[in-house]
Amino acid sequence: MRVAVGGLHVECCTYNPVKIEERDFVIWRGDEILGQAYFSVLKAYQATYLPTFYARAVPGGPVARDTYENFKADFLARLQAQMPLDGLYLAMHGAVFVEGMEDAEGDWLASAREVVGEDCVIAVSYDLHGNVSQKILDAIDIFSTYRTAPHIDVPETQLRSLKMLNHALTTGERPLIAWVKVPMLMGGERTSTRYEPAKSIYESLPAVDALHGVWDASLQVGYRSADEPRATACSVFTGMDRDVLEREALKLAQTYWDARHECIYPVPVGTIEEGVALAKASRTHPVILADSGDNPTAGGVGDRGDVLAEVLKHGLTNTIVAGVMDRPAVEKAYAAGVGALVDLKIGGALDLKSMSVGVNAEVVTLVETSEPMEREAVVRVGGVDIVVSARRRPYHNIADFARLGLDPLKADTVLVKSGYLSPELEPIANPNFMILSDGAVTQNDTIRVRKRMVVPTFPIVAEPEWIPRAVFSRRSLARLVS
Ligand SMILES: [Zn+2]
Repeated sequence: MRVAVGGLHVECCTYNPVKIEERDFVIWRGDEILGQAYFSVLKAYQATYLPTFYARAVPGGPVARDTYENFKADFLARLQAQMPLDGLYLAMHGAVFVEGMEDAEGDWLASAREVVGEDCVIAVSYDLHGNVSQKILDAIDIFSTYRTAPHIDVPETQLRSLKMLNHALTTGERPLIAWVKVPMLMGGERTSTRYEPAKSIYESLPAVDALHGVWDASLQVGYRSADEPRATACSVFTGMDRDVLEREALKLAQTYWDARHECIYPVPVGTIEEGVALAKASRTHPVILADSGDNPTAGGVGDRGDVLAEVLKHGLTNTIVAGVMDRPAVEKAYAAGVGALVDLKIGGALDLKSMSVGVNAEVVTLVETSEPMEREAVVRVGGVDIVVSARRRPYHNIADFARLGLDPLKADTVLVKSGYLSPELEPIANPNFMILSDGAVTQNDTIRVRKRMVVPTFPIVAEPEWIPRAVFSRRSLARLVS
């Protein structure tokens, strides 16, 4: 069995003005792919795996058009070179937005289908924050998505897709795909599977997989920071029995819809002022404040200084701010050297709308690296250690702090750019508070303009009308009539 492998994985906020370019991606070409731990799951099913092209980046703004076109040309040429193929497995995210193009995955997958032909079985794995379209499902045969957020089931999801692909190729069975759109776009913060209602809904899926005629039950939360017509939640089912797929896809969609008012923030939330006041008054530590509107891992810019300004204004002590992306500030700190006092403007390095704050800071730590974009500095203002980084990056793991000589456990207050806290920070937060700040990925739907929302969607629209409807993929329909 000849199975080609590849993928494209990035989440693009259409409200983020900073384009993602080729240099922002980690790119694996050809044989590099098979050596990656990320693709070690392939070993679970025997086949001749033929690597093509895989690229992934930290979430951000739109992918530059020429970057996308270059990637696509590279991918398709490599795919063509591996023909003939029995199968194709693509590890996708699902929320790519390309300058001047809607439904980028639809374009990517439809182009792949044109190369591999109608007989090749295409399986994809997705992030549950990806957006699906009819064009996407029409191009593929097998779909599975994460069942946890934060995402701790990436290999399990890949394995479900690979298992289905292997089954199709060894038995000759060709599955159907049915999907039901749900006019809901909830933030990941309100649909984390660590909490209800998403916890129970996602935990119910293995039992649905086990139903006769079902291969896989998937639920997409969708990506709310994309102003695209396809942005929606949906259930997506792969399997053999038309009636069961239709029934179960409708049932799962209805379950999610019925839970829409229960999708609430599982932690205390409030304004910047409220978050900083809480940190100042708290008798327990570390207070971890999440600046959710500027979270780079959700597609935010990561260069805003507004929460930092409030932290400094109130004179918080024993505090870590990690971090603010600001290359000019980083360069200035490196030029000054450890121990020097330096005037810095922190914030607004990438997005002109981002607030900056002027400080006179002591340079405490400089990361040794020959790569200018990998530079990070810790600068101190009073009792606040501020991490500035040359590139957009999260500080969500203890190791991100330890590398810089910082210990979040010993701090009174830690400010991170995050939505729900990472699996490493969440258990140490005492307490945990999410700031509903401005920014490209703000949680506040009322301050965002949606120009491309073609279907009234909850909670942007308070009570949209919904007529549930199951739709099959083009390839399914062809099989159903034949
Ligand atoms: Zn995700």
